[in-house]
Amino acid sequence: MKKIKVVGAGLAGAEAAWQIARLGLGCELLDIKPGQMTAAHSSIYPAELVCSNSLKSDDPQTASGLLKREMRQLDSIIMSAADATRVPAGSALAVDREAFARRVDALLDSTGLIRRREQEIADLDVAADCLMILATGPLTTDKLMAAMAREWGDMLYFFDAAAPIVSADSLDPEHYFFASRYGKGSADYLNCPLDRDLYLKFRAALLAADKVPVRDFDRKVFQDCQPLEILAERGEDTMRFGPLKPVGLIDPRTGEVPYAVLQLRREQSSGEMYNLVGCQTRLTFSAQREVFGLIPALREAEYLRFGVMHRNHYIHGPKVLAVGNKVRSRENLFLAGQITGVEGYLESAASGLITARLVALVAAGLPVDCLSSLTLPPTTMMGALANYVTTSDSKDFQPMNANFGILCYDPDFVTARRKRERREQVMPMSDHHLAIWRDKYLKLCQDYGLCS
Ligand SMILES: Cc1cc2nc3c(=O)[nH]c(=O)nc-3n(C[C@H](O)[C@H](O)[C@H](O)COP(=O)(O)OP(=O)(O)OC[C@H]3O[C@@H](n4cnc5c(N)ncnc54)[C@H](O)[C@@H]3O)c2cc1C
Repeated sequence: MKKIKVVGAGLAGAEAAWQIARLGLGCELLDIKPGQMTAAHSSIYPAELVCSNSLKSDDPQTASGLLKREMRQLDSIIMSAADATRVPAGSALAVDREAFARRVDALLDSTGLIRRREQEIADLDVAADCLMILATGPLTTDKLMAAMAREWGDMLYFFDAAAPIVSADSLDPEHYFFASRYGKGSADYLNCPLDRDLYLKFRAALLAADKVPVRDFDRKVFQDCQPLEILAERGEDTMRFGPLKPVGLIDPRTGEVPYAVLQLRREQSSGEMYNLVGCQTRLTFSAQREVFGLIPALREAEYLRFGVMHRNHYIHGPKVLAVGNKVRSRENLFLAGQITGVEGYLESAASGLITARLVALVAAGLPVDCLSSLTLPPTTMMGALANYVTTSDSKDFQPMNANFGILCYDPDFVTARRKRERREQVMPMSDHHLAIWRDKYLKLCQDYGLCS
């Protein structure tokens, strides 16, 4: 039996270590934390959510909801901890980030099979009797990134921005109301209405404000995470049709839909901290105070964390990785998480989940060549993501979120032409193909003496 090392105790690494332990194997889980922290990490716990506390929609008819459904079926620690620590957020799954990370920490310890160590890995060498999963994320340390670049060519990158978090008791209740968009679920969001004059003033201030300079910025920001000021630049109404959209929200004081609405989402179940939804920004800290301070509810806001921007690195998955996220140029090395070219908390965790399940079998004796017969079908969202990072033929390989565009459709299940009906047919398709894959996987686990 080969030893297994998982490097990086983030979303992918924590999930990977858990999956390995659930199969009855021991592993080492290494991280530079808590002694050293990357530019975005600050918690001593594993599986840190560095920005939003939202894991997106939990509706299985959305791509993100389908991914969650599949991960739950494969005993994901990230989903289990998220379900146990969720905070009200309408149809989205949002968590109390501190409680979530503590829960992951406790679950990892409860296996008794995971040895945790604080260590920086700085090269790609793996001992012959060991298998290593590198899950060091978009903020991999410079030394390791240099080693990756030496072996695989320049790392790819894009910029990502985080939204500010403010304390609840510093907000002015005279100027906000609680409601969920379209009245879905309970009224979990705190909404700050803007009339037209205020909206235009806010936009002008965003455009004029001091920003932290970033090279190549415009070309390299991930599409789903555009800073608010970039949206403001695009046109007068862009924010109003984007993060500041008022539709589905009625101000109880006027009985009308406001011109625009800035929403705040609860960070913890206790409701002490609120995240400014969609307000990721590269404004300087003082500019953030000034510009967001134009919104009456935020006039005296206390900032628990200002919005920030980071450079996220990833490798060219299709060039570097073979099936199962095995590195083509090395025998015992696998990659998982955002570094492979998936994007998002759950996408990263899903990558850790499937990579670890395959690595456990290889450790138990399954020949690496046999991994191709065990790939998750691309008719599942997890399989589609895994398939994307290893086989995409795009000239401009970009990180990928869960979405219906990468999924393959089995005509035995998906027959409808209309989008809405097709979405309804996707869930049984995913359930069916995942169940077949799981049966095959469990059979192999038995053959190789892994408990399952
Ligand atoms: C600023 C920022 C904001 C983001 N916001 C969101 C968001 O709101 N929603 C969303 O879905 N996704 C977001 N992402 C993207 C992504 O989902 C997260 O980065 C996610 O945490 C990636 O998971 P991971 O496991 O691949 O890496 P991480 O969770 O970052 O885990 C990597 C771990 O590896 C450790 N490490 C790094 N280098 C080494 C080394 N050399 N040796 C040992 N340990 C090492 C780190 O300390 C870290 O604990 C954001 C990313 C960034 C950078």
